[in-house]
Amino acid sequence: MDLSFPRRPFHSKGGANVPHRKNTAHMESVFMPPPDKIILPMQQHIGAICTPTVKKGDYVYAGQVIGNSEAYVSAPIHASVSGTVADITQITMTGGQKIDAVVIESDGKMEFEPSIQPPAEIKTKKELDEATWNAGLVGLGGAGFPSHVKLNVKDESKIDTLIINVAECEPYVTADHREALENGENVLLGIYKVKEILGVKRVFIAVEENKPDAIVKLTEIADNPELDPNDEVRVIKLKSRYPQGAEKILIKVCTNRVVPEGGLPSDVGCIVMNIASVAFISTFIKNGKPLTLKRVSIDGSAIKNPQNVIVPIGTKISDIVEFCGGYKTEPKKIMLGGPMMGTALTTDDFPIIKQNNAVLFFDEKDANLMKTTACIRCARCYMACPLSLRPRDFEMASDSKDLEKLKDLHIMNCMECGCCSYACPAGRKLVHAIRVGKNHLRTGGAK
Ligand code: SF4
Ligand code: SF4
Repeated sequence: MDLSFPRRPFHSKGGANVPHRKNTAHMESVFMPPPDKIILPMQQHIGAICTPTVKKGDYVYAGQVIGNSEAYVSAPIHASVSGTVADITQITMTGGQKIDAVVIESDGKMEFEPSIQPPAEIKTKKELDEATWNAGLVGLGGAGFPSHVKLNVKDESKIDTLIINVAECEPYVTADHREALENGENVLLGIYKVKEILGVKRVFIAVEENKPDAIVKLTEIADNPELDPNDEVRVIKLKSRYPQGAEKILIKVCTNRVVPEGGLPSDVGCIVMNIASVAFISTFIKNGKPLTLKRVSIDGSAIKNPQNVIVPIGTKISDIVEFCGGYKTEPKKIMLGGPMMGTALTTDDFPIIKQNNAVLFFDEKDANLMKTTACIRCARCYMACPLSLRPRDFEMASDSKDLEKLKDLHIMNCMECGCCSYACPAGRKLVHAIRVGKNHLRTGGAK
């Protein structure tokens, strides 16, 4: 297998030239003091839902496990503040499912569990698995895939490439950019630890070219001759074109390999990790403190003071809004995540969970509540699709619940990047129709 570094990224088709609007890229992140109350839903990852391990009235330390599962594809959930369990309640998640949530009233002390200490030196894959499980680490870039599952590849001899995702191609979102600038030492140590344990021979640090200061910083990391004597870690500059940060696109542009339908990056010898996830491995090795904090980009035309805020996981969005000076004007649209792949919220009374990296608040003008009109068969959605799928056909098959057609069109291969909806001059809600279509297939058309 050729493991050379390409002189420039390989070609990927489709995509969208979305405006960058990285308004907070040059602002240092700010720590938010613990709020009076945090809410920790028992699912903050892909996989099995956790069960609360505490009860109302219990005192909890920050870093203490408060939710756990015996399932392999899951991740424990830790208290992000010290205080008293005020309630075990139910919360409706963005997908509509009702989930148990532990509510903690903070004592304001942020006192960590006294027994927490750094793990013994991590030298093996098994020890790395244990550490990432104990840390409660999941993909912090948005996917929420448990890291111990991602790193526990069956046959590591088949993995030759690690890709660190710093593309951050969604407009407004700058949390990973700030991670690169503010946490370089941990990024470096995390990358080399994962590289050493998995025996990977080639590491790409993939950054969009609209982050020149991060490219300089990360190139210093990659060019460290003591840690990387064989020059196996390199920064690759990607075109600033959405959706370069999508896992399949990233693998294509870095390696020219194509992940098969329904397959995983490991099927083509790759592991992709978000920059904040890899840096967190290093932090955990140093202090043994599990994942309790999250950097979140707060931006949009309706918020007074846009900035990156580091908050205890479980902090309510309304508390972050208050910390950021409140609203300039009543938001007409609140997005959890970027405007392309994020989820619209109907309220700011919702907690930040592990994989959230942005909350955006838009006034009436920017909310872009475009009127939907009839399809004019212009084919722009087809041309925009980076995976050469047929978005308008998905919409029609979804509307008519044509399960055979949905299967034939390979709807499950769609990564819901939103390029088709963005390109559509008729404002058709193609991604919404795709999500509904996928749900038809999962339920056999019952719902
Ligand atoms: S069909 Fe899916 S993958 Fe293709 S552009 Fe639309 S959302 Fe993206
Ligand atoms: S881009 Fe919109 S209007 Fe054009 S074919 Fe696709 S769905 Fe129809």
